Amino acid sequence: MSTHLLEALSEKADEFIALRHDIHRHPELAFDEHRTSALVADKLQSWGYAVERGLGGTGLVGRLVRGDGQRRLGLRADMDALPIFEATGLPHASCHAGVMHACGHDGHTAMLLAAAQHLAQSRNFSGTLNLIFQPAEEGGGGALRMMDDGLFEKYPCDAVFAMHNMPGTPQGRLVLREGATMASSDYATVTLTGVGGHGAMPHQATDPIVAAASIVMALQTIVSRNIDPLQMAVVTVGALHAGKANNVIPQSATLELSVRALDREVRRKLEQRIKALITAQAESFEVRAQIAWRPGYAVLVNTPEETAFAREVALELVGEERVTRQGLALSASEDFAFMLERVPGSYLFIGNGDGDSAGACMVHNPGYDFNDANLPIGAAYWVLLAQRFLV
Ligand SMILES: [Zn+2]
Ligand SMILES: [Zn+2]
Repeated sequence: MSTHLLEALSEKADEFIALRHDIHRHPELAFDEHRTSALVADKLQSWGYAVERGLGGTGLVGRLVRGDGQRRLGLRADMDALPIFEATGLPHASCHAGVMHACGHDGHTAMLLAAAQHLAQSRNFSGTLNLIFQPAEEGGGGALRMMDDGLFEKYPCDAVFAMHNMPGTPQGRLVLREGATMASSDYATVTLTGVGGHGAMPHQATDPIVAAASIVMALQTIVSRNIDPLQMAVVTVGALHAGKANNVIPQSATLELSVRALDREVRRKLEQRIKALITAQAESFEVRAQIAWRPGYAVLVNTPEETAFAREVALELVGEERVTRQGLALSASEDFAFMLERVPGSYLFIGNGDGDSAGACMVHNPGYDFNDANLPIGAAYWVLLAQRFLV
């Protein structure tokens, strides 16, 4: 175990816990991370990083080159908060009502900053270190926006890594996984148009509600009948709106769908079957169906070589007992998936706490808080990974 590195970062922990609390107190929503990105840029500059702001709006990159090593490493943290009213009652609780760091991105940012300071001061690597602070992970696709602004053309990376905290997993445990790790997420709005009329004379109308009800049920057969039972797939109808009065057949009905998969082929199959089934069902009820399909995040796939490397670093840092070599995949989504479509790399988890501990409260819950005990561990992990990669 690399205890001296953990000790070195534990000594600086108070400074970065205070920084994390400051970011937590001032949460900012997607693409609105002006204060946070200014704070990150100031810190990086003060430690000697070359900083470029304005990638993907509020995103930024800090670059540090040491020695004559040819390898280029990317480490990524996310900075955005969520539209949630915080209910932790903590001294560092959000001072912006209705906005909250409920996913721990304040902690991710602070961990990477702590590592950034240590690496700048210890100068213990040879190569190019690119620290990527992205906006809008929570649905806004900030990673994609940074890439559209030339992230990997301006800052080429041989590999990229990112870390997310995970409530329900013992505090400080590092969880790695090769292959598909986070699900794709796609969305659709379906508008069914019939002919409105009097509820007493249904034969003179074309009822979109009956069609919508049938479509909701039929959609359930896609996962059960069209997808390999050994594959994961989710089709959720999260909203269904139609009608206002009990004696009126409305003109239209709308459905909102959310669709997830852990495999690129399954993802394509779901889209194809959902569209075909809705179109055919609508036709059978003589209503018109319009489907607005909105692709969301891609499947997040960790590459084998880089995951094996990230796993070795974890084992070296915290030892066998605190590492899960191949964890479970999750049905949630993450836009680091887009970076991994371009550059090999790996996305890992750090346990936020389990059982009855405060850290077990799930992310996106108003009672959630990032576990400060993870700050030195996550930071030491980034330091060690950079030192092992940039040789
Ligand atoms: Zn989140
Ligand atoms: Zn998150």
